[in-house]
Amino acid sequence: MQNNNTEISDGSVSAEGRRLIEGFMNDIIARNPGELEFHQAVREVAESVVPIVEATPAYREARILDRLVEPERVIMFRVPWVDDRGGVQINRGYRIEMNSAIGPYKGGVRFHPTVTLGVLKFLAFEQVFKNSLTTLALGGGKGGSDFDPKGKSDQEVMRFCQSFMNELYRHIGPDTDVPAGDIGVGAREIGYLFGQYKRISNRFCGVLTGKGMAYGGSLIRPEATGYGAVYFAQEMLATRDDSLEGKMATVSGSGNVAQYTVEKLLEFGAKPVTLSDSAGTVVDPEGIDAEKLAWVMELKNIRRGRISEYADRFRGATYYANQRPWNVGCDLAFPSATQNEIDAADARALVEGGCMCVSEGANMPTSPEAADVFLGAKILYGPGKAANAGGVAVSGLEMTQNYGVMRWPREEVDLRLRQIMKSIHTNCERYGRTGDFVNYVRGANVAGFVKVADAMLQQGIV
Ligand code: NDP
Repeated sequence: MQNNNTEISDGSVSAEGRRLIEGFMNDIIARNPGELEFHQAVREVAESVVPIVEATPAYREARILDRLVEPERVIMFRVPWVDDRGGVQINRGYRIEMNSAIGPYKGGVRFHPTVTLGVLKFLAFEQVFKNSLTTLALGGGKGGSDFDPKGKSDQEVMRFCQSFMNELYRHIGPDTDVPAGDIGVGAREIGYLFGQYKRISNRFCGVLTGKGMAYGGSLIRPEATGYGAVYFAQEMLATRDDSLEGKMATVSGSGNVAQYTVEKLLEFGAKPVTLSDSAGTVVDPEGIDAEKLAWVMELKNIRRGRISEYADRFRGATYYANQRPWNVGCDLAFPSATQNEIDAADARALVEGGCMCVSEGANMPTSPEAADVFLGAKILYGPGKAANAGGVAVSGLEMTQNYGVMRWPREEVDLRLRQIMKSIHTNCERYGRTGDFVNYVRGANVAGFVKVADAMLQQGIV
C-alpha cells in the first residue's frame, strides 16, 4: 500500500490524517444527529481507511467514503398488531439498504426494545465490510423493530411478524435484499416472516436466510456465527503457535451465537465458564459441558427462560445479577451478546486476568476505549466484522443452495465455513500486519473497504 503524509509506516495516522478524520466525523455527526452507535462505527472505519482514500486519487475524486456512509435507501414503517387481550399495539419497523455495490443487500433483522435508526445504521454499515470480507457477492443491509418478543405468546409474535412483513415484502427479494435473523429473531420468527412473505407475494424463494430445514434452510446456518467466531480465534492463536486446547473461556450472552460458541469451544477442548443475559451472568468454575449446554439450549430456545436458572440447576455455579462476565480470569473471551458490552474497565480486567485472545461474536461489543486497551496490550483481538462473519457467510451459502434447489451435507457447509473464516483471517493479516503484530481491526476495515470501493468506482456515480 502506498504511503503518503496521512499515514505513518506502522499504520497509525499522522497529524494531517487526524485533521481529515476529524473534519469527516464532524460532518457525519452534523448529518446524523444523535446516532451515537453509527458515529462510533463510522469513526472506527474512518481511522483505518482515510489514509488509503487520501493516497488514492480515484477514491477521493469519486467521494467513495462519503457515499459509503449514506444508506442507499432507508425504509421506516408503522407495525400495528393486536395482542392477546385484543389491545392494539404499535411498533416501528425499519430496513436500511446500505450498499449494493457487490451484491444484493444482506443482513439480519433485530427485534429488541433498544432498536433505533442509529443502531440499525451502525449494524448496516458494519455489515457492508463484513459481507465484503466473506469473499461472497453480498451487499450490506440491516433491519428490525423496537418490538420485544420476550414475554409475548407465540400468537402475538406471529401477528407481529405478519404485520412487519406486510410492509417489508415490497422491498425485499432473493436478488434484491435478503434479510436473516439477529437478536430476538430466531427460527420461530423467521418461520412466521417467511410464511407471510409467501402468502402475500405468492412466491416460494430464498428471500430470507436462517430458514427451517423443512423449507429451504441450510445445515450449519444456526451454528455458523458461533462456530465461525471460534474458528477465527483458532486462526489467530495459530499465528502464535498456540491453540484452543485447555484454554479457559468467558462467553457473554446465552442466545444463538453464545450457544454455538460454547459447543465449538467444547469440541476443541477449551473450557467455557460463563454465560449471561441482559439481567446478569452465570459463572460455572467446573465448566459448561455438553450436558449443561443442552439444558441451556432447552431453557433459552424452548422454555424461553432466564440464565439465572442455570445456578439453581447446577451446583457450583453462581449467578451475579447485573454483572458482565469480564472480571472472571480467562485465556479467551467471546463477547456474544450486544454492542458496547465491554468498556475500558472491562477490557483492563480481561487483560489483567490473563486474556490473550478476544473473538467478537457480537457486533461492536467493544467500546473504542476498550479496543484501545486490547490493541495497546497487543493481545489477539478479532473484531466482529471479521470474527462473526461466519453467520452471513453461511447465509450466502443458503442462498446458493436455494438458487440451485439443493441441499449440501453438513460436512460440506462446515468445511466451506472453515475455509471462509481462514480466508477472512488471511485477508485481515495481509492489511493489518506490522512486524510481528496483526491489528485485525485495521486489517478487516481495509480489506472490506477496498473491494467495495473498487466495485463502486467501476459502477459510476450511483
Ligand atoms: P439472541 O437473541 O439469540 O441472543 C442475544 C443474547 O444477548 C441474549 O442472551 C440476550 O439476553 C443478550 N442481550 C441482548 N441485548 C442485550 C443487552 N442490551 N445487554 C445485555 N445482553 C443483551 O441473538 P444472537 O445470539 O443472534 O445475537 C447476539 C449478537 O451476535 C448480536 O450482537 C448480533 O448482532 C450478533 N450477530 C448475530 C448473528 C447471527 O447469526 N445470529 C450474526 C452476526 C452477529 P436477553 O435475553 O436478556 O435479551
